[in-house]
Amino acid sequence: MRVFNFCAGPAMLPTEVMAQAQAELLDWQGQGVSVMEMSHRSPEFIALAKGADADLRELLTIPDDYHVLFMHGGGRGQFAAVAMNLLGDNGKALYLRSGSWSKAAAEEARRFGEVDEIEVIEERDGTKALNMPSFSAEQGDYRYLHYCPNETVDGIEISEVPDSPWPIVADMSSCILSRPIDVSKYGLIYAGAQKNIGPSGLSLVIVKRDLLELPSLPMPSIMDYRITAENESMFNTPPTYALYIAASVFAWLKKQGGVAAMGERNQRKADELYDYINQSDFYKNPVASNLRSRMNVTFQLADESLNSEFLSQAKARGLLALKGHRSVGGMRASIYNAMPHQGVLALVAFMDEFAKAQQ
Ligand code: PMP
Repeated sequence: MRVFNFCAGPAMLPTEVMAQAQAELLDWQGQGVSVMEMSHRSPEFIALAKGADADLRELLTIPDDYHVLFMHGGGRGQFAAVAMNLLGDNGKALYLRSGSWSKAAAEEARRFGEVDEIEVIEERDGTKALNMPSFSAEQGDYRYLHYCPNETVDGIEISEVPDSPWPIVADMSSCILSRPIDVSKYGLIYAGAQKNIGPSGLSLVIVKRDLLELPSLPMPSIMDYRITAENESMFNTPPTYALYIAASVFAWLKKQGGVAAMGERNQRKADELYDYINQSDFYKNPVASNLRSRMNVTFQLADESLNSEFLSQAKARGLLALKGHRSVGGMRASIYNAMPHQGVLALVAFMDEFAKAQQ
């Protein structure tokens, strides 16, 4: 039985995609072998990879002067790869800090060069609010500005793209494909796959070609964007099964009406959950309303001693993995593309029942 899985990642994948993978597991395209048992250089697999590239380009309207790279090492792999590829010798970068993941990205980049950081979230009367400064080129000779539009742990989503004189690098691990974006505003977008794309380990990079013209630091070949681009993401053996699932997810997204339809659906799901939390005395959310994540809805019980009872009753109702990240506590409902509307309705109904039972 499939339950509603609210895990932040690896997250639930569309049931249709999983069912297709199951049906094709032993015999892909009538070849008598699994897709994971085939050469990545076979014409069949190369066709799959090209299809994934084309579908992604269509879904996100990626301009022709951007490379699409499928790489190894998830989100954190890209924390390092971004710095190694873009910082260059004596290069400096500016990192905006909005929560756990942007902080971790800056720490990793500092291993490779100079990093300045600006905190963009401030507490106003116990509420987390956005304090996005305006930037000007005189502030520094930065190779790029890095930020994380969706902070998975903190439940914070920054919907405005910073107005930056330097190329923007965005960690979209937990919001990629959740609504339309204007790729041309970014120098580079990256994402670990395990939320809206497919299995963990795979990472996606969308990078403007001219960003790769400057010389980079010495680094392992498999982390090198230039080598990866020249070899169409097949310098070495790519994570083929993960790529196969990603290709299926992209096809599924197109069938759903693409990212515009997904964006509307995701907004509706998030609004329903936040509307319920807003009118409740039993649950609270400390994030300003214009900064609340549509993907990771964090909330706390007014009486935290009820946390474990809440989680065990939820699990018994088929509502899984609602525990907040260990660093912040509380609850977190991750409602990525694959979470159906019924999952959110079931969660709200349970939360209401649980709250009323305590009164
Ligand atoms: N960035 C963000 C926004 C994330 O949510 C995560 C993982 N939850 C990461 C980076 C790290 O990804 P990985 O575990 O694949 O290294």
